[in-house]
Amino acid sequence: MSLSEQVPEVSAASAGSLATFESTDPATGAVVAVFPVHDADAVRETVTRAHPAAASWAALGFAERRLRLAAYRGHLARRVHELADLVHRENGKPHADAVLEITLAIDHLAWAAGHAEKTLGPRRVRAGALAANHAAYLEYQPLGVVGVIGPWNYPVFTPMGSIAYALAAGNAVVFKPSEFTPAIGDWLVAAWRAAVPDVADVLQLVTGSGETGAALCRAGVDKLAFTGSAATGRKVMAVCAETLTPVLMECGGKDAMIVDDDADVSAAAGAAVWGAMSNAGQTCIGIERVYATSAVHDRFVAEVTRRTAALRPGSDDGASYGPMTMASQTDVVRRHLDDATAAGGRAVTGGTVDGGFIAPTVLLGVPESSAAVREETFGPTLTITEVPDAEEGLRRANDSSMGLGGSVFSGSADRAMDLARRMRSGMTSINSVLTFVSVPALPFGGVGESGFGRIHGEDGLREFTRAKAITRQRVGLPVDLMSFSRPAGAADALARVMRLVHGRHR
Ligand code: NDP
Repeated sequence: MSLSEQVPEVSAASAGSLATFESTDPATGAVVAVFPVHDADAVRETVTRAHPAAASWAALGFAERRLRLAAYRGHLARRVHELADLVHRENGKPHADAVLEITLAIDHLAWAAGHAEKTLGPRRVRAGALAANHAAYLEYQPLGVVGVIGPWNYPVFTPMGSIAYALAAGNAVVFKPSEFTPAIGDWLVAAWRAAVPDVADVLQLVTGSGETGAALCRAGVDKLAFTGSAATGRKVMAVCAETLTPVLMECGGKDAMIVDDDADVSAAAGAAVWGAMSNAGQTCIGIERVYATSAVHDRFVAEVTRRTAALRPGSDDGASYGPMTMASQTDVVRRHLDDATAAGGRAVTGGTVDGGFIAPTVLLGVPESSAAVREETFGPTLTITEVPDAEEGLRRANDSSMGLGGSVFSGSADRAMDLARRMRSGMTSINSVLTFVSVPALPFGGVGESGFGRIHGEDGLREFTRAKAITRQRVGLPVDLMSFSRPAGAADALARVMRLVHGRHR
């Protein structure tokens, strides 16, 4: 029997005296699995068990951890289709999209494990003139136990962005998946136990709703990595503030694409449609707004409309994207569509909602003050707005409380780089969309209401560590400035040296 088929039995067995909840297939409503609602005591017990596991994991060192992380990724890589089946059933996305998501997660796992020692390991740094008789050392030490709270939209890739980097940095992890995708979280943790049984408690699971997440924040974790909406992020920060527990905030986005005069319009349209509609638009770095210059606007709209007409939501193998994973998100999309049309916007395609399936929708003429432009829609919708030039497109793209990703299409590499640098976001792809997530060396995270802190890359490894600084005196000096026995004139001599070295700068 495969791991994904075992999920309901495994979960029911671990429920004990706790209440339970069901996770369901968003396309059919069929029950996927039953899970315990871990209460505050159960969460605290799990975190307490994780602390000694974290100490042993840290003591193993980089090389031994790397071996076990390799075994984990090998285990995942041999079961991609099995996990993708489960993702399709519990999250609703097409099997092929689930395969892509899992592939990205495995690649990040490999990168994090392969770069941890070089990024975090002990190194000597220059001691500088004032401490020339000392050797100076820097290393990045694990924090201990990291709590990871994840969303449902990319239930493998998104939490793995924290889990893989936290583990590679030498921490244990307690993972609380979204109540909409607990079976996928359970599968990932069961896979860890199966792949590396000697360090099984290094990655553990707690399941439940928001209250279980809040309990995790209070359970004595050394850092809390949160991915979800800004509204929930605020609650998580407030709870973590009670114990000064540090937080990583990966929140929502309202990402924009700028299409410049000399852009490849066909390529831009293809990228915009994928960026907006794939995963039913439930992508934190999905493209929700396009600002196209007057020179290309009409052609761009025609291309987008033509490509969108070929898309079909559904749950079968041929569907372009699946249902909304969470019923309440359908209501948000409906509200944004109603608001946009009431404000004078017009849907050139789509605009209809059939149960959990939302037609691919392209909106024109939507005022910038509308919810469809200002708030995260998180559905298969796209607003396209004509602007006189790319500079105005950038101004409007940046006029947002959020700033996660974004995209620039331009025929000029220099111009595109300039626009990308000035885009108020953590990541920007030029002449493509979302590409930055597939480059493990690049950090991922937002500005403003999109959050703070970084996963992925060297910054993502350091995010789950504390810098440790050490000095070691190599030779004693005749005059020790940090001593009560220093000569009376030492401070004056020091001031003269400072004047000589730095005083000429004006
Ligand atoms: P939510 O904010 O609703 O939930 C996120 C997680 O927090 C879930 O596991 C949820 O549990 C949990 N949670 C809810 N209430 C609390 C609480 N009071 N204390 C602690 N934890 C709590 O987000 P969604 O799951 O709906 O995910 C969609 C959002 O995530 C979008 O805004 C999207 O943009 C963002 N996102 C950001 C990414 C990034 O990297 N920046 C990547 C992917 C998504 P439960 O589900 O059980 O209620």
